[in-house]
Amino acid sequence: MQQTQRLTWLRTSDPRRLASLWWQADSVRREAVGDEVFLRGLVEVSNICRRRCAYCGISAEHKGLERYRMSTEEVLACAHTAVRLGYGTVVLQAGEDPGLTKTRVSDLIRQIKEQTDLAVTLSLGEREEDELAAWRAAGADRYLARFETSNRELFDRIHPPLNGQPADRIRLLRTLRVLGYEVGSGVMVGIPGQTYDDLARDIEWFAESELDMIGVGPFVPHPVTPAVKLPAAAPEQQVPNSVEMTCKVVALARLACPKTNIPSTTALGTLDRENGTELGLQRGANIVMPNLTPHGYRFLYEIYPGKANSQDSPADVREELARRIHGLGRTIGAGRGDSPHYRAGLAAAAVCGEAE
Ligand code: SAH
Repeated sequence: MQQTQRLTWLRTSDPRRLASLWWQADSVRREAVGDEVFLRGLVEVSNICRRRCAYCGISAEHKGLERYRMSTEEVLACAHTAVRLGYGTVVLQAGEDPGLTKTRVSDLIRQIKEQTDLAVTLSLGEREEDELAAWRAAGADRYLARFETSNRELFDRIHPPLNGQPADRIRLLRTLRVLGYEVGSGVMVGIPGQTYDDLARDIEWFAESELDMIGVGPFVPHPVTPAVKLPAAAPEQQVPNSVEMTCKVVALARLACPKTNIPSTTALGTLDRENGTELGLQRGANIVMPNLTPHGYRFLYEIYPGKANSQDSPADVREELARRIHGLGRTIGAGRGDSPHYRAGLAAAAVCGEAE
């Protein structure tokens, strides 16, 4: 698809035209990755963070926030809950916490792998290559690191350098690919200062960078963060942080990357509690990431407000999700739910290897 066409989709609000975008994305999703929705159990292992991201509620700037790091035993208990609920993957997410050392995380991954058949996804921020290599060697399967926006100047404004070193998430994604991870990235939609052109470029970048997973969520302002005071772009340029705009990006991401795993994100479900999860699933998504973090910690991992509201038990959350997914005529996927895009890459590499 041409960039001008993407821009036209991003700018249209005509419900009849949009119905055709939703239909196209849903058809491509069905054909490329099928009707199964895969569930990933999310464990927010630490809210300690050395970064000062302008958008994030657990930034090091948030001085009053009580900090925690889960013990290995606590995380393992969550992994066993994931198994009991039939999830094929556990996602370990955290602030950029230096206390999650190479050894500690390697040990945790090894224990999860010894005790379960779960796929392990990491989302621990920008870490050193030797750490990423060790975690991969310990058995980690996937890594998530959103590039947040392809507008470099905007990215630097919202994701300040650490010790004078500007973040380089594109390089990080390349390193992860070389190490053999299934690589996930993505963006927030409606960051103050983000334009339609920026968003169209983000989608182009999804396709060019051959991502295995793409996460797209609306920017949800957190009152304690500086992002609420960031200047917006000119009114005709500024992208809204709406459910509809997020769904457009999900749909266009599916059209650009048919075989990629795309979640209906928690942020989308937070913005529209009634229907957000379903809308994402009907407009290109095939993954949901239910939260398994113990309640005592969950409300401290408030990257944006309203996220941690559910007091329901993991089993109740699983049941509620099953109801929503079956309501769409879809099924819950069994097993790991590896990215079909990643699997296709492995198969192609194997064929090339044979040819040599
Ligand atoms: N420390 C890890 C994990 C961060 S949380 C990392 O930096 O990669 C995962 C994602 O949540 C972020 O990449 C960002 O896209 C999203 N996020 C953070 N704050 C948000 C906010 N205020 N609104 C919406 N999404 C947010």
